[in-house]
Amino acid sequence: MNKIGPISLVGAGPGDPELLTVRALHRLQAADVVLSDDLVDARVLALVKPGARIVYVGKRGGCVSTEQRFIHELMIREASAGLNVVRLKGGDPFVFGRGGEEMDALRAAGITVEVVSGLTAGIAAPASIGIPVTDRRHAPGVAFVTGHNREDAQAGTGQNGPNAPTGPNWHALARSGLTLVIYMGLARVESLVAALSEDGGLPLDTPAAAISATHTLQQRSVICTLAELPATLRREAISSPAILVIGPVVNMAHTLNEIQTLEMPQAWRA
Ligand code: SAH
Repeated sequence: MNKIGPISLVGAGPGDPELLTVRALHRLQAADVVLSDDLVDARVLALVKPGARIVYVGKRGGCVSTEQRFIHELMIREASAGLNVVRLKGGDPFVFGRGGEEMDALRAAGITVEVVSGLTAGIAAPASIGIPVTDRRHAPGVAFVTGHNREDAQAGTGQNGPNAPTGPNWHALARSGLTLVIYMGLARVESLVAALSEDGGLPLDTPAAAISATHTLQQRSVICTLAELPATLRREAISSPAILVIGPVVNMAHTLNEIQTLEMPQAWRA
């Protein structure tokens, strides 16, 4: 049997193609078929070579486990046909992206997997408004956590599998002194704030920020206190995808959004 693969799991970064790694760009330009997530920016997909096929395999809605299996089978089928396959994921492929599950499935099928790291939203979004998540004057480190829990997963919208955790230990996180960077946190923000403050004892005046659609033309951000976070998100109509940041380091944020550089270099235009 001919050797199949490798298949590259490529991080597309948060939006702006200038935030792709050079390696990610090379893989996109070499791919025959790109299996892309929902969250990948159209300007990144525009860098795929002419004639290459882009397959959208977003997982919003529907039965997650079946769709995940379908994605695995599709990757294996395309690679077995001798095509150069890239699996493209928003941000970093191994940060809340099921990259690990996909790598496992490909390895089990005997296919070599290459991982091309990308810039994750949990670092890029705070940085875009001047928040250095591990500034040592404010926090000894950062915790990247999901706002989803297993109930969401069972409803078909979140993480899955027999060992999926029930959700972060908010009580412990509140006491950790770490900056909290929360992915997928909008839907449960009220219960999350309650868990951190009422159960965890995190002061209600702890600074909090939300940054949506970072490094896209739609980027928006708000800065407030933990107590004000749910109402502020509603009032400002902050929508998914968004990152929540909680901790004193949020005080370093710019009061005005930085204007992103959205022009692509001439050399990258098709
Ligand atoms: N692998 C991705 C995360 C996938 S989970 C990464 O490394 O960034 C999806 C969550 O990521 C969203 O619910 C949101 O919390 C966050 N996210 C992804 N892209 C984003 C963006 N451009 N702006 C803000 N948050 C984003």
